Amino acid sequence: MGKGLNDSIAQGTGLRTRILLIAFVILLIANAGAISTSSYLFIERMLQAQQSRAEAIARGLDTQLQRLAALGIGINQLQGFEDQCRDVVINNEGLSTAMVIAPDGRVAFHNDPAQMGDARASREMLDAITAQRTLHADPQAQTYYALAPIAGDKSWSEGVIAIGFPFSLIDAQRDRLISRSVIVSVAAIALGMLLLVLALSRYVMRPISTIVKATESLRQSGNVASGGRLPESDLYEFGVMAQGINRLLDRVDQHEAALREAKDFAISANRAKTTFLANMSHELRTPMNAIMGFTDLALRKTLELQTRNYLEKMQVAEHGLLAIIDDVLDITRIESDNMLIKPGALELSKVIQSQIALIERAADDKRLRVTSDISPALVGRVLIGDAQRLAQVLLNLLSNAIKFTERGSVAVRASIEHDDTASHNVIVRIEVQDTGIGIASEDQKRLFQAFEQVDNSSTRAYGGTGLGLALSKRIVELMGGEVGLASTVGKGSTFWFTVRLVDGKSSRVGEPMPQQIIAADDKYRSRSASLHRVLLVEDDRVNQDVISEMLTDAGLEVEVAHHGGEALELIDPTVHALVIMDIQMPHMDGLEATRAMRNRTDLAALPIIAMTANAFAENRDQCLQAGMNDFLTKPVDPTTFYRTLQRWLPR
Ligand code: ADP
Repeated sequence: MGKGLNDSIAQGTGLRTRILLIAFVILLIANAGAISTSSYLFIERMLQAQQSRAEAIARGLDTQLQRLAALGIGINQLQGFEDQCRDVVINNEGLSTAMVIAPDGRVAFHNDPAQMGDARASREMLDAITAQRTLHADPQAQTYYALAPIAGDKSWSEGVIAIGFPFSLIDAQRDRLISRSVIVSVAAIALGMLLLVLALSRYVMRPISTIVKATESLRQSGNVASGGRLPESDLYEFGVMAQGINRLLDRVDQHEAALREAKDFAISANRAKTTFLANMSHELRTPMNAIMGFTDLALRKTLELQTRNYLEKMQVAEHGLLAIIDDVLDITRIESDNMLIKPGALELSKVIQSQIALIERAADDKRLRVTSDISPALVGRVLIGDAQRLAQVLLNLLSNAIKFTERGSVAVRASIEHDDTASHNVIVRIEVQDTGIGIASEDQKRLFQAFEQVDNSSTRAYGGTGLGLALSKRIVELMGGEVGLASTVGKGSTFWFTVRLVDGKSSRVGEPMPQQIIAADDKYRSRSASLHRVLLVEDDRVNQDVISEMLTDAGLEVEVAHHGGEALELIDPTVHALVIMDIQMPHMDGLEATRAMRNRTDLAALPIIAMTANAFAENRDQCLQAGMNDFLTKPVDPTTFYRTLQRWLPR
């Protein structure tokens, strides 16, 4: 939009030029036709006229012969008649020859005496005489001859008087006529073209250029809705055209308005959905915290096998549920552009093996073989990337492969697609191949959109939220890569993705190696932490209970404040070694309470850890800005919980 006419249009010939060109050619042809027809007719008439004149002259000579015959002088005895012939030629302008041809073809008299005597008329002329033609053209002599039979002397009745006049007599007049006609017709063409130009610009070009200008300005502004319309025209055709185009523009206006409305609606619906998902994720996290916390506590305290069995199954279900809540949160993050990639050192083969380990049990249950083929160039090589997000994508693909495969195998392959020593970028390609149900090609594209599944019916055979692939695509793109698949229905699918990582040796990022995962085992619990008292600021009763229990279980003393205000009253740095602070609370929220505490010099160094169901990165930033030391999201994973405590409790 907004650019000038495109080249092919700009270089094209305009309508006016074309019409003029056509008109010019037509006029030219018409004029040429007129000139040639008129000159043909003219020549015919000229010839006739000259012939009649010559015939009259011949008759004059014949009359003389008649008179001589009446005096008893036959042609045969006649002498000196060539003088009459010569007189005729001299006295009649334009004549070149006058001769009397005897019945035997001899030239009896000629205005040029040298041509007389034994000379004979040409063969062609004699043929013409025999055929009784009245005109004979002699191209050799460049002369027309009017042939008139001799009536004056009966014995010569087969003789002929021939009066000649040169071609040039006719040609010169014809040339004069043509040159005049050409001058007249050039003037006529010029006048015609001028009139045509005037008529064209008045009746055709002006209305067209108005339409063209209006269309062009519409095209350049690209804004039909601005009300730009073509002017009406009093010429019928243009009036109809302008009206038609204006109607069309009206409809475009209406469609644009409808589209804008639909788009606005879609945007606000999407925003509402994102808000809803964020709220739902928050509201689910709070009870999940209690459920997971108590399950963990109960498992630690129960030795009875049956109960442990139930609790372990609950834990599996809880983790499944949490994974869904996490996916929902991730989608919300993606849609609000809040998804962050946190680079750190990683070893790809280990990331892959750890994710394979996670699905091995499920694969075993379905008797599926899981193989991995990792390029030797990757084994042991340290790269910089977000191991957690990478693992998330891989786990998504692996779980799908297991889920949608009934028999056969799942293979993971990893290789280096591009290793750029100059930029230290390493593009890694990972493939997950299965021998499962496969995906029809028409379904393949939409699978990477959120909530899309091949089978959306209520009777579908496989569960799932349809979020995994959408998330994977977005994460992979954030890591500078691509995702795709090749699949044949009934034979299986190969999902692949690439990510851009950075060579670990070259990296000056100085990122720490990922911490070894340390199980939340009794190591933390048995720490001599019993001296420590923790202030738990939390309004939710159930969460108060579960966190208190978890803290007590780790050998800590707990005091509970129900909101920020109460916490400010209770806090005592000589008694409390650490504060666990919820964010959303009645009366005074966690952020405000933290800021108030940090304003007190005696509390400036006290560790405060946020524990909230708001799991966005921006929430973490808000907490850290308010002065908190760390951030835990609900539902809190016991391992992380105890590790965080250990980090902040005085040793
Ligand atoms: P979910 O698995 O939770 O439904 P995903 O986004 O991971 O969501 O997958 C979307 C859909 O893509 C699945 O429901 C399934 O129809 C299809 N799909 C994904 N992976 C495979 C696979 N390996 N084989 C066959 N179909 C698959």
